[in-house]
Amino acid sequence: MPPRTIIEPFRIHSVAPLRMTTEAERREAIGRAGYNLFALRSEDVLIDLLTDSGTGAMSSEQWADIQRGDESYAGSPSWYRFESAVKQLFPFSHVIPTHQGRAAEKILMTALGAPGRVVPNNTHFDTTRANVEAAGAEALDLVIAEGHDPSLDHPFKGNMDLGKLEALLRERGSDVPLVFVTITNNSGGGQPVSLENLRGVRELCDRYGVPLYLDACRFAENAWFIREREQGQGEREVADIVRDIASLADGMTMSAKKDGLANIGGWLALNDDELAARCRNLLILTEGFPTYGGLAGRDLDAIAQGLTEVVQHEYLRYRMRSTWYLGEGLHRAGVPVVRPVGGHAVYLDARALLPHVPPLQYPGHALALALYEAGGIRSGEIGTVMFGRQTDGSEKPAPLDLVRLAVPRRTYTQSHIDYVIDVCAEVAGRASELGGYRITEEPPALRHFTAKFEPVAT
Ligand SMILES: *Cc1c(COP(=O)(O)O)cnc(C)c1O
Repeated sequence: MPPRTIIEPFRIHSVAPLRMTTEAERREAIGRAGYNLFALRSEDVLIDLLTDSGTGAMSSEQWADIQRGDESYAGSPSWYRFESAVKQLFPFSHVIPTHQGRAAEKILMTALGAPGRVVPNNTHFDTTRANVEAAGAEALDLVIAEGHDPSLDHPFKGNMDLGKLEALLRERGSDVPLVFVTITNNSGGGQPVSLENLRGVRELCDRYGVPLYLDACRFAENAWFIREREQGQGEREVADIVRDIASLADGMTMSAKKDGLANIGGWLALNDDELAARCRNLLILTEGFPTYGGLAGRDLDAIAQGLTEVVQHEYLRYRMRSTWYLGEGLHRAGVPVVRPVGGHAVYLDARALLPHVPPLQYPGHALALALYEAGGIRSGEIGTVMFGRQTDGSEKPAPLDLVRLAVPRRTYTQSHIDYVIDVCAEVAGRASELGGYRITEEPPALRHFTAKFEPVAT
């Protein structure tokens, strides 16, 4: 059992105020927002755990690099520093910068997706699924069975089900333009994928002649889990584990807003020359010239520095301890959480906590709203609101109804997290009083961002 106190391996250099609100003010704010947490003004939020994406604090070295950024349109030194930092960890032949992860997905899926094709993944993240479907292809989730059981302990719950993947490749291999593996498996609870499983996926991809791509947003956290949990990996440098992971793949998409330790950015990297040329042409159409993509030179520099910091063991030890501390505190307070705790977030099992709210009345959404009203905590539903709408417009329950408490990197202290645990425990203690919601307005895709809701009368 590690000591109770987490020593953050940094001291605070610049602070931003948090605005206190009353419960009555929050009830009014969420009503005005159509009961959608995305529609709140962030000043009305006390602790923002909506996402760990782009919300982290940059280091003094990164801020110094922001000053060094060179804004030349073509061939900027910032671009060369960025490209070299990416290739240090992911030695793919081509690196294509984008303004964030989904732009890389959009480009790759425009090049490879088409009606009649099917793209397997351990679990597609929402933007990945939306981009596969927008290209007319089918997005298939093939995570191992253990990944669907929120209370089951397993060291690598993000692993791909190799049997199911092989069956798909055997039956429909020619319809599969690529296999994706998401590390860590965000939508499945931030759970890692083992090196052994990745080797198994690689072998199947080789056998059936299909390229393997990583959705590598949290590669450093995944590599830390491999170091901690996988046989023979305990003495290795995380950076070496990352290079091992990269050597198993043909390419990757990346959001630098996660393990890039930056506020914006991403990239697509790959080895296939012909495909890279097509992707660069698509990049120019919507993102920009190939040496900046959708980014300013200063952003490229901040990412380059972030990539050197994110693989430092001191940082990763603190990072994983903080998330674990939140999960362990909630578990001890009797709040059902997905086990084991993932890398970047703790997932509350809303379906277990609110068994009286049917999935189509969105128990995850109901719990997330209650945490906001009670304590000003903003979280995110990962469940039937996010995944329940089918491509034909009908609706069915998602496999799980979770509430994600995503922990921004280097942003909140241990006392902030203690407060979060207190609020969650208080709300869990009166869970039986919480009612469900219905949707009054929704867009055709990614509805969780903009849908409006109202409470179901009880
Ligand atoms: C965040 C994320 C993306 C998309 O990246 P953005 O930068 O938000 O566009 C894709 N996949 C996973 C697993 C993610 O966590």
